[in-house]
Amino acid sequence: CGIVGYIGDKNAYPILINGLKMLEYRGYDSSGIALLGDEQRVYKCQGKIANLEELVSDKDTSGKIGIGHTRWATHGEPTDQNAHPHTSMNGHFTLVHNGIIENYSRLRDDLIELGYTFQSQTDTEVLVNLIEYVYLNSEEKSAEIAVRAALKKVVGAYGIVIVCNEEPNKLIAARKGSPLVIGIGNDEYFLASDATPIVGYTNQVLYLNDHDVAIIERGSLTLKNINNDPLVAKIKQVDLSIGELQ
Ligand code: GLU
Repeated sequence: CGIVGYIGDKNAYPILINGLKMLEYRGYDSSGIALLGDEQRVYKCQGKIANLEELVSDKDTSGKIGIGHTRWATHGEPTDQNAHPHTSMNGHFTLVHNGIIENYSRLRDDLIELGYTFQSQTDTEVLVNLIEYVYLNSEEKSAEIAVRAALKKVVGAYGIVIVCNEEPNKLIAARKGSPLVIGIGNDEYFLASDATPIVGYTNQVLYLNDHDVAIIERGSLTLKNINNDPLVAKIKQVDLSIGELQ
């Protein structure tokens, strides 16, 4: 029920873990992170964020790009396997998702017919595999194009942050129905379900609107809608002590 993300020059892990703790109040039954460095590592488990910290205590937590998630299970029991992030079958995409993909069952059946297999019972794993399928079957291999095309086939609510192995220095975020905020720092960006994990780092924030897609690299943020129309990012200032000003 909470999302965090980071891309910049700092180590992502402490930013992600602290952010997840600040989103604890939203309620959750599992948590997980994906870190991107020379290779991608995913750590996730059922239970408290303390369990996740215990799990990663003897692991490699390096990486300056990462995504994190606290899950409030809607489809599939709260288990380690159902925890986010979820990676697509061929390993091209890794995704965190808040919300519900209402037509997941139909999409899942279609993907199974196309040869896909699933590790979890979640609606989220259907979405990440749909994105991968669209990606692998498009003439132009572009993570962003695949995300936008896949989201057009989705009925339901989502806040997502996704990474693509072939485009490792990029986060793609999108929302419909589930909140997502981007904090803008100096050549670094913070993502979260609300501004609380962000305000300790920057007071410049961008609230995504429904159907927005943000393509975020270390030094640039491109905002567009799901139809590829460019949008102007309306950056707001938040006051660190009294909350949102404008
Ligand atoms: N529907 C997804 C799941 O059950 C996401 C739930 C959430 O928002 O945490 O895994």
